[in-house]
Amino acid sequence: MPKLILALVLFQFYSPFGHAQSNPLWHVQKIKNYLPHMTWPEVDQLLARTDMVIIPVPAIEQHGPQLPIGTDYFAGEELAKLIAQRTDVLVAPILLPGISPYHMEFPGTIALSSDTVQRVYIEAAQSLIHHGFRRFLIFTSHMGNQHVSRYIADRINQETAGTAVELGDAAAAFLAKPTAVKPELFDRHAGIDETSRALYLFPNLVDMSKAGKNEVTLPDHLRKMLPQVVADEAVASRVFLAEALKPAATGKHTSTREMTKSGVWSEGDTRQASADRGREDSEAFIRASVQFIDRWKALTPLKPLTERRDY
Ligand SMILES: [Zn+2]
Repeated sequence: MPKLILALVLFQFYSPFGHAQSNPLWHVQKIKNYLPHMTWPEVDQLLARTDMVIIPVPAIEQHGPQLPIGTDYFAGEELAKLIAQRTDVLVAPILLPGISPYHMEFPGTIALSSDTVQRVYIEAAQSLIHHGFRRFLIFTSHMGNQHVSRYIADRINQETAGTAVELGDAAAAFLAKPTAVKPELFDRHAGIDETSRALYLFPNLVDMSKAGKNEVTLPDHLRKMLPQVVADEAVASRVFLAEALKPAATGKHTSTREMTKSGVWSEGDTRQASADRGREDSEAFIRASVQFIDRWKALTPLKPLTERRDY
């Protein structure tokens, strides 16, 4: 009997069936409606059900010592994938890097010009239109891309058979108004909110042992505006953000390296971040996006695929 057990154990170790020799680093799970995971027949079947695509517009840029360089990429993709599980839409990632010139003093950041970024997305949208996709949800997952995202949406509307909106703008109508409690401190890039979302969306890439208290150094006139910016006063916020987060070469002294030591643009302590807070935030956005998408589907009936396809 022991011999039989030994034989079985050896079979487990050496059999090509017991332990298939596949890439030990590969732990990816196939996600529904996520273009890189799909076969062409699956895209074909999806096209019969929907003509909608979410295209995240992310960035590859420093996110402080506790978050990965790909934070905006993972956040955009994961939110888009979660939306696409609740309402039939394609998720089509196109690029990883975006517009991040003001993070260039931190290693790892990749910065493309807005001209390059919009051209790549327009050409990608043209391919998707060729296959029969018609409605585009351009999803800004890095705030530095917000203007180019709207420009991409407008170019799709002006120059192609497609129709596009920026997803954040579109979902805003369904987001609950912020509570009356005013935030008390300045917390933006890689701060408590963004770290919380990362803890919910891609937890094992967050290193909370590197989280901590942060300080922001600002040119004097911007520092004086800070209380109004924190209180979300319209004019102060607009002129503050027009000047802040700009490349060192502009002489504004507002590149991230000039304003922070760590790359975290926050006066908060990122140890206060939590997956719960991130889940609440993410869920609110996912729900609002699904509501917008379902309403759009109801307003505009889907045309037959034969009328939408160029071949
Ligand atoms: Zn970010």
